[in-house]
Amino acid sequence: MPSVYIKTYGCQMNERDSEQVARSLVARGYSLVREESEADVILLNTCSVRDMAEQKAIGKMGMMQRLREKKPHLVFGYLGCMAQSRGAELLENSPGVDLVAGTQKFHRVADYVEELLQRKMNALIDDERRPIVDTEEEAGSQSTIRDHIVKPNQSTAFVSIMQGCNMHCAFCIVPATRGAERSRPIGDIVDEVRGLVDKGVREVTLLGQIVNLYGRHEFEKRDGLSPFVQLIEAVCAVDGIDRVRFTSPHPIGYREDLVNAFTRLPKLVEHVHLPLQSGSNRLLKLMRRGYTAEKYVDLVGKLRAARPGIAITTDVIVGFPGETEEDFQATCELADAVSFDNAFIFRYSPRRDTPAATMEGQLPEEVKEARNQHLLELINRHVKAKLDALVGGTQEILCEGPSKHNPDRLTGRTRTNKIVVFEGGPRHIGQIFDVRIARATQSTLYGDPAVLDS
Ligand code: SF4
Repeated sequence: MPSVYIKTYGCQMNERDSEQVARSLVARGYSLVREESEADVILLNTCSVRDMAEQKAIGKMGMMQRLREKKPHLVFGYLGCMAQSRGAELLENSPGVDLVAGTQKFHRVADYVEELLQRKMNALIDDERRPIVDTEEEAGSQSTIRDHIVKPNQSTAFVSIMQGCNMHCAFCIVPATRGAERSRPIGDIVDEVRGLVDKGVREVTLLGQIVNLYGRHEFEKRDGLSPFVQLIEAVCAVDGIDRVRFTSPHPIGYREDLVNAFTRLPKLVEHVHLPLQSGSNRLLKLMRRGYTAEKYVDLVGKLRAARPGIAITTDVIVGFPGETEEDFQATCELADAVSFDNAFIFRYSPRRDTPAATMEGQLPEEVKEARNQHLLELINRHVKAKLDALVGGTQEILCEGPSKHNPDRLTGRTRTNKIVVFEGGPRHIGQIFDVRIARATQSTLYGDPAVLDS
């Protein structure tokens, strides 16, 4: 049977979509390979959030065309966000591409790949170079990301609960690439989680572009609870699930019922991702974020009161059009005051067809870079201080398996999503237990194997 190489760019939702495509091809007998040179089918699942991610994928596709010299039947495809936003235009940038499948078409990829391979194998010369482009909307496509490839000893899994976003932040291309908000029914999601538990999974992360606004167009509030909180309750009620996470949320989606959920649902872990983007009210308005810096800080206080010790991570954009020194200072002051557990800092990257791309006051790269560096140093000081404060204490971890950097060691995550590396054995993998923290680097905690509670 043919073999498939899939490379994923971008976020966890893309990783999850790639897993679904891989699963659908494996179910038809295809094998997955780690090297493109071994493949009959090469698929790039693309990201459009930054221009650089698009250029990387286009560059990679160009480089791989030489593989056809040895394998004329090779099938090349673009999937996901860039495929959606650029569509057939991609065929001009990337001659030799056979398939362009958008974000509502992951479940059709296996059919398209089969058709393309058959055309090539049968040497139907006329048809051979006719690419397939499908970027149409498709009702119900959010419910097709539901199958998993669960590896032996796998203890964590991502579950896609919705697609799309209706927010239209001024810098963001997601509403154009992922479409409007569409959510899956709670019952389907719970069934998927039960299936994962049966295969050994103990922690799930619920995924959506605007995850905490899940279901607001499809499902009713019940007993004052939003559909998202109803879903969290239902997932927490699944026997065998020990930890529940979610990403990526919007600050406006943290209403009282969700903050409250942290006081009463112990399986909901002590970690929230709370994208800030800017600490300047002037910029937040230009960005169309729908909250102020004061509201953001107030929300942080409520979450910390609801679950003492909760970790708060964030996303910040530096160098948004028109960002002044004062605006940037406001962001630094807020970051200093909140003291984040971690942050992803992005230099603003203009995306076509977004309002910010044509705003006045686009800043030079040197300014963006300098601000990025400054903010990174500030946030890193807080991150390190928080990790240092854990040294000498114990943390509950879920052991995920061998460490990426040193396969002789094991790695796990605390409930606050901090990585802990320690020396252990196969019996630890997939287990939840306490580890004494011996030391900390800038990003990692190291556990003392002598006091493993196992
Ligand atoms: S809420 Fe998030 S995904 Fe939606 S438009 Fe804003 S930044 Fe993009």
